[in-house]
Parts: sequence; structure tokens; C-alpha cells
Amino acid sequence: MRRAGSLLPLAAVLFAALIAVSAAPGQAPSPAEKQIVIFHINDVHGKIDNFAKVAAILDAERKTGGDVFFFSAGDNFTGDPVIDRADPPGEPMVELLDRLHLDLLSLGNHEFDYGLDAVRKLVAHFPTISANIAPEPGILPGLKPYVVLTSKSGVKLVVFGSSRSSPATACRRRTPTRSRACDSASRSLRRSR
Ligand SMILES: [Zn+2]
Repeated sequence: MRRAGSLLPLAAVLFAALIAVSAAPGQAPSPAEKQIVIFHINDVHGKIDNFAKVAAILDAERKTGGDVFFFSAGDNFTGDPVIDRADPPGEPMVELLDRLHLDLLSLGNHEFDYGLDAVRKLVAHFPTISANIAPEPGILPGLKPYVVLTSKSGVKLVVFGSSRSSPATACRRRTPTRSRACDSASRSLRRSR
């Protein structure tokens, strides 16, 4: 993922998509439409300053009782010393996304900056998808190309992940220590187009 998005305030890259789903042909027509609200972030790059606002927005929408999802399109890691220098690196971001009840994560190339352990932690905490990052067998067993989510009102959403850049592209600008972890992670993965 490109870094440009990280320059925007987090609230600016958080938006709600309203999806009206019509009844399928042949099914009972009532109710005629259902509304699903999807909040989405990407390229946060460790900038957690506005997460309290994000939490307030999510809480307010969830309290309405409607169908609400919260997705991340990746690149949550790298760019803020609070996240980069944590022990282990990335831990505060995982904890915050957990508290915000992230429903789905699509891996970005910068998710590999801290090495495979940090990626494994993400995959362990959140449903994680990428259709074009193929780990060696057993490396990231929880990673799926796509998921089928079912909303509270019974609507099925098929969501697939696509990682724009290879994990190896994130390794070039790291410190020597971090480069070793990143290189090691990227060697275990390959990206197909
Ligand atoms: Zn990015």
C-alpha cells in the first residue's frame, strides 16, 4: 500500500458505506431492502492519535442495533514510534484494533515489517484475508483468500483481499535489525498476480 493515505487524519480515511440489498429473485419481497454499514480504514501506519474518535463513531453506529462491520485494508504497522518501538513491535496496534472489534483485515505489505510473529498475531486476532499472498504451507494457516460474512439480518457478504505490493517491497527502508525480520518474513511468502 502506498503511504499517501497515512498523511490524512485517521478520521478522514474512515468512512461508512451504505449498501442497500434488494431481495433476491424468487424470495419473499419483505423487507424490500436491508442496510449494511461498513466502516473502513487503511494505511493507518501506526497513527493512533484519533482512535478515540474512531471508537466513538463505531460505538454510536453499533448502538443503533443495525448491521455494522469494521474493516481494515491493511498497512496498520510502521510509521509511529509508539507502535514501531513497542515490545513486541506492533502490539499496541493489535490491542487497539481488538478493542475496536475489527471484523476483517486484508494484509498490506507493511504488515510484514516486524517479521512473521507480528503477522501471526494479527491472523490470530482477526479474520485475515489476502488472495494474492501465498504463504509456504504451515506459515500462516489462518490466512484466507476471501471470507463470507453474515450480517445480523442474514445478508451474506463475500469479501476478498488483494495485497497491492509484495511483502518484500516493505523491507527496503527498514533498520538492519528490522530488515532481517522483514526479509525472513517475505522469503516465506510469495505474491501472485
Ligand atoms: Zn501504506
